[in-house]
Amino acid sequence: MTRQQEASFVDAVIVGAGFSGLYLLHRLRGLGFSTRAFERGGDVGGTWYWNRYPGARCDVESMQYSYSFDEALQQDWRWPEKFSAQPDILAYANHVADRFDLRKDITLETTVTAAHFDEGAQRWQVETDAGERVSARFLIMATGCISTAQIPGVEGLSAYEGRTFHTGAWPHEKVDFTGERIAVVGTGSSGIQAIPVLAEQAAHVTVFQRTPNYSLPSQNCPMTGDYERSWKEIYADRREEMRRSFHGSLKDLNDKPALSVSEDERQATYQQRWEIGGTPFLGAFNDLLTSKDANDTAAAFVREQIRKIVKDPVTAELLGPKTYPIGTKRICVDTGYFETYNRDNVALVDIGKKPIERFTPDGLFANGRHYAFDSVVFATGFDAMTGTLFRVDIRGRRGRTLKEKWEAGPRTYLGLMSEAFPNLFMITGPGSPSVKSNMIISIEQHVDLVTGSLVHMRDHGLAVIEPEREAEDGWVEHVQEAANRTLFPLANSWYMGANIPGKPRLFTPYIGGVGRYRQICEQMVADGYKGFRFDAKAATAAPKRTVAV
Ligand code: NAP
Repeated sequence: MTRQQEASFVDAVIVGAGFSGLYLLHRLRGLGFSTRAFERGGDVGGTWYWNRYPGARCDVESMQYSYSFDEALQQDWRWPEKFSAQPDILAYANHVADRFDLRKDITLETTVTAAHFDEGAQRWQVETDAGERVSARFLIMATGCISTAQIPGVEGLSAYEGRTFHTGAWPHEKVDFTGERIAVVGTGSSGIQAIPVLAEQAAHVTVFQRTPNYSLPSQNCPMTGDYERSWKEIYADRREEMRRSFHGSLKDLNDKPALSVSEDERQATYQQRWEIGGTPFLGAFNDLLTSKDANDTAAAFVREQIRKIVKDPVTAELLGPKTYPIGTKRICVDTGYFETYNRDNVALVDIGKKPIERFTPDGLFANGRHYAFDSVVFATGFDAMTGTLFRVDIRGRRGRTLKEKWEAGPRTYLGLMSEAFPNLFMITGPGSPSVKSNMIISIEQHVDLVTGSLVHMRDHGLAVIEPEREAEDGWVEHVQEAANRTLFPLANSWYMGANIPGKPRLFTPYIGGVGRYRQICEQMVADGYKGFRFDAKAATAAPKRTVAV
């Protein structure tokens, strides 16, 4: 009997072997559930496998952007820098896969193409692009929130003869831009990280900017022994604090409103945070994301820094965001981004008023002018939150697709499950803190919650779990209410689906806070999984024999 045949009936199929999939596999196996994981990439690591563009790094500190589930792991692993670069994070993902012997249950280079719920058997019938079929009681989508890269449909692109790249699907072999003229389209987190490094390699870089972004200096530095020890000595306590915090990470959050202090104190506070570096800048005052007047003061400070850094006043003005509050599009963190525009080989082209007109075989037309390039780098983002889920033909009760159900926007209970899709879990799904949190903390919470639910069902002889419609409706409303108490809906961000033409406009993650969300989930469990209904009827037993595949 082949291994493939043995695995055709399992308790759970996991889709994805990034940080969610790896931890899920470890937990499920430890709890005695038979599990298969499928991964589209050629290796584990998810986001950090695909996003290997020059300059890619995480802007959550490594001491915090790492697993907390295993004390020995968190004590053993050494991070070289405060904010780790992509190769170091990918090395860590590989270490975890090896350390916990996870690879044997992961099928790489295999995309799950369809998953249909069989109401009679109460099982998910899962299909892959390799033609494999697996029957699973549980289907767990660990597919990440920003994993479907999007390249804009600009006229003439298919006839462009130079090289094209997307930051989110970067080649695995080294790309050499020496002596090249390159275009970069997009100035979000990825573009802002890549541009300074590309400018060092290429002969010339032209950046096409649709919307300027607020970016903060990372002030990255090598990890010091003292700093590392200060975490590791009390790691368990720190992690618990992170789990109860607003963002899932420890940041020094000021509890004063911005306008409650004098102008001098306000400026000094911003200056101090700018010098410390990174996203704690947004914690300078407690109302920066809820009061427009407060927010305006922080935004003005950052624009002023840009004017100080960028020598050409016209370029500085173009780089200064003015159309949305700071922090309502994902704040960027950079290493020398604005300074890069002082280089002779970097030019900025504003396409905010008129989009790129068309590509030609050797470049593109914008603002009525032709620009010639050897390569184009698209840093144009992702069909976030739902795009990757929709790429799989997921059908729940009565054959209805997830895409149909979510036509007007994602509908979940707690960002975990959707009614009419029984036994289908999403790790950091829409409606959970997900991208508005330290992802690894949120991943661990969801994995523990999902695996806890499976154990609960096993212990109580329950076959099916599904959210109640009313609970889901209530949660969807609560997610929007939470967003509406903030300034987030004021920006055309990917959080709002605004970067994808035709996508419904609504805030997709839960912004009520990681700690509060955790409490809500804990209360739900304490109340006997309130908002979920279970079917106690035993599922049709998996056949003793395996099916031919
Ligand atoms: P992004 O934030 O969505 O930025 C995409 C950029 O491309 C934006 O500047 C966007 O302009 C532009 N764009 C999109 N379509 C365009 C078009 N048709 N024409 C011209 N410009 C276009 O994508 P990203 O930079 O890849 O980042 C995505 C997310 O990944 C981040 O927000 C963050 O959550 C995560 N990330 C994190 C890190 C980190 O930890 N340091 C690094 C990279 C990414 P508009 O603003 O006008 O839409």
